[in-house]
Amino acid sequence: MAENAFITCENLVKIYKVANLELVALQGLDLIVERGEMLGIIGPSGSGKSTLMNILGGLDRPSAGRVLVDGRDLRKIPDAALDGYRRTTVGFIWQQSSRNLVPYLTAEENVTLPMTFAGASPRVKGQRARELLDAVELSHRRRHRLAQMSGGEQQRVAIAVALANMPKLLLGDEPTGEMDTTTALAIYQLLRDLNQRYNLTTCIVSHDPTIARHVDRVVAIRDGKTATETIRQSVAAAPAEDGAESAVPQEDIYHELVVLDTAGRLQVPKDYLEQFGIRGRAQLEITEDGILIRPAQVVQEAQAAATERGETEAAATRISLRKRLQTVGSTLGRLTRREGSAAGAREGHDGN
Ligand code: ADP
Ligand code: MG
Repeated sequence: MAENAFITCENLVKIYKVANLELVALQGLDLIVERGEMLGIIGPSGSGKSTLMNILGGLDRPSAGRVLVDGRDLRKIPDAALDGYRRTTVGFIWQQSSRNLVPYLTAEENVTLPMTFAGASPRVKGQRARELLDAVELSHRRRHRLAQMSGGEQQRVAIAVALANMPKLLLGDEPTGEMDTTTALAIYQLLRDLNQRYNLTTCIVSHDPTIARHVDRVVAIRDGKTATETIRQSVAAAPAEDGAESAVPQEDIYHELVVLDTAGRLQVPKDYLEQFGIRGRAQLEITEDGILIRPAQVVQEAQAAATERGETEAAATRISLRKRLQTVGSTLGRLTRREGSAAGAREGHDGN
């Protein structure tokens, strides 16, 4: 395992108990995030994205497995230490920006509030609030109340609030979920700027697969496990036909790779399985280029053929056995007859 990673999740399990039911929200999730990395997290609704964010944010504890953030074991640290972690190490941005904001305060007052709770001096508070509002491009709106701002502006204030106590980790749970494409794009660009400016490890959950363009890496979560990773590769674009220099010298290629867990398990995309009617069991076959997964039907057909062959063989065996028995029978018959006739001959009359 990568001991230097900023976040390490190993075989992370979260079970919610509702009435008498147990709901497994994370089922052995593995994830490594490097310090300063910007990670996108995508996945269908209910796949466990928010559960993972809440655990990484210290809002909830896992049921089993290991979660290390910046050297802290979030499953084992005492409650008081977890509170401290939540206040100083993590910044959280929610889908509803209002969750981090007080509507009747100004932008600046909202950014100052978490610093007041953390006991910062007025000078530090003023300086840092100005710097953050400048970073989210809202200096001109700092004396405006939240109610006077657009959704995109409110989310920018929420980002500044999340960064107020200089966290090392920024978590966003669908922070652009309620935005139009243009506003969302601006927020992604801002998050990228902040990630680079403050070397801020950043994890952003999104329903939008195009987030791959704005982050270093995207992991897809399916059924409580990391299923695939999309990695960006920058390659030199092909030169233009006329030999002129290309305006875009770099071209990004995205590779979506399946994640193997420590036990060698992987998730095969559902549509692939459906396409080949693979269910329940499959057949693995080594080929020259890799490992081929075939529907078990092929195996079943082979088995059926073998069984049929077996039955034919058994039937043939039965026939030959019967023939042999008949042979034996007729031999015995002959013997009996012969014995009988011999006896009859001895006793002076025919046994038949
Ligand atoms: P996502 O954010 O990917 O939509 P969640 O992490 O919110 O998924 O949920 C994962 C699963 O856990 C879902 O089946 C959800 O219903 C369940 N779940 C989440 N939070 C709770 C909770 N507090 N109590 C019970 N079940 C929960
Ligand atoms: Mg969610």
